[in-house]
Amino acid sequence: MKTIGLIGGMSWQSTIDYYRIINNAVVRRTKGKHAAKIVIDSVDFGEVEVLISNQDFAGLTALLVNSAQKLEKAGAELLMIGANTMHFAADPIQESVRIPLVHIVDATIAAIQAKGLTKVGLLGTKFTMEKDYFRQRLISNGIDVDVPGMEDREFIQQTIFKELFHATINPESKKRFLSIMDDLAREGAQGIILGCTEIPLLIKREDTVLPVFDTTEIHAMAAIEMSF
Ligand code: GLU
Repeated sequence: MKTIGLIGGMSWQSTIDYYRIINNAVVRRTKGKHAAKIVIDSVDFGEVEVLISNQDFAGLTALLVNSAQKLEKAGAELLMIGANTMHFAADPIQESVRIPLVHIVDATIAAIQAKGLTKVGLLGTKFTMEKDYFRQRLISNGIDVDVPGMEDREFIQQTIFKELFHATINPESKKRFLSIMDDLAREGAQGIILGCTEIPLLIKREDTVLPVFDTTEIHAMAAIEMSF
């Protein structure tokens, strides 16, 4: 079993989920005989936030590259960035280390293709819903993607950072998320990507009849596949 290196802390709430999902999967796979080998470098999201608000994407990339290199030096044989948004820097991060990056978007594309879907809705940070790094990769793989309207995108962003980052589960927010998902389905989405690693704290598979793609779980399981 390979040692997984995880850039965590984005947020630390979802890093807990990664740690639990990966260990549970190893326990299942080895019939309880083993636990996962994981090195985590948990970054301070306060520092990340300052870089984001200054639009200092070079500085942010440097912070993530530094974290990836630390993990490689610590013995990681696979690399994970424990957040969708930070995959905007996936290429320079991959180029800075020799170990392979388990790409969250590629793992999600594989999960969508396995279900034979061709059009999905994408929920995530505003950056994820509006910029190209996620959507373009889906489109290049033959998957059409729709995102909520501007007000809903703003609401989702606020919910992620003001509630889910602090593990606050607000039933009203949940209701609105589910109604946004239904709107996307009415517009033709056959499934919904929970494209932010905190959203699964709020939305569970059993909350909806729509197929949901939980990127935290999908990403963690892809790493497990690569680590055996
Ligand atoms: N965890 C989040 C994601 O999956 C958002 C935090 C961040 O901006 O990295 O995109």
